[in-house]
Amino acid sequence: MKLILLGAPGAGKGTVAKLLTKVDGSVQISTGDILRGAVTAGTDLGKEAKGFMDAGDLVPDELIMNIMGERLLEDDCKAGFLLDGFPRTIPQADALEVLLEKIGVELDMVVNLDVPRDVIYDRLTTRRTCENTDCQAIYNVKSMPSKVEGVCDKCGSATIQRADETVEAISKRLDTYDEMTAPLADYYDKKGKLFTVAATSSDKVVEEVTNNL
Ligand code: ADP
Ligand code: ZN
Repeated sequence: MKLILLGAPGAGKGTVAKLLTKVDGSVQISTGDILRGAVTAGTDLGKEAKGFMDAGDLVPDELIMNIMGERLLEDDCKAGFLLDGFPRTIPQADALEVLLEKIGVELDMVVNLDVPRDVIYDRLTTRRTCENTDCQAIYNVKSMPSKVEGVCDKCGSATIQRADETVEAISKRLDTYDEMTAPLADYYDKKGKLFTVAATSSDKVVEEVTNNL
């Protein structure tokens, strides 16, 4: 399947994407994971992106399009892809359209994960992420804790609170979402691609998405 997952930070895009990869072997492409990997590896991309990310700001469109222009050409995308955290602005969506047309690929749908703001806020402040950039497993101290507190079940690395998950950065990210990304729902609705789901449980979202393909 070829999907975009749209939704505020904490709406569960990453969790849903990971579950969907198991349905048909489509790959999850998370621009956030790619950027965090670059920051940890200390690459030029990482150095450029870090300040924006820590402040809860978006990384410039041009950097993101450089990443995605290459990533979507990789072989594993042929099985399908789940875009998690991209596009995040109208210019990114326009550029994606040009890119997809060039490679002759059509999106199946844009899944809009709809979650009330108070739920999102609660989820983000209790979220923990595995610090191993090859893993980046996600936990939640309330709803999905790791077996041993602070230790990743999958790889044994430490689970940490991301730098952009302080209360200030979270508020900033939610404002940025409303201003820059939320308009994409309308954008894709006009193209007849939007599928909005109440995202209270990730399993239910996966069920609804697969039933709608
Ligand atoms: P979340 O969805 O929880 O906010 P992500 O892991 O998707 O987190 O992204 C983390 C940060 O990486 C964002 O706050 C932003 O700074 C940057 N980022 C990720 N994807 C994009 C994108 N498509 N465009 C611009 N910045 C991005
Ligand atoms: Zn891990």
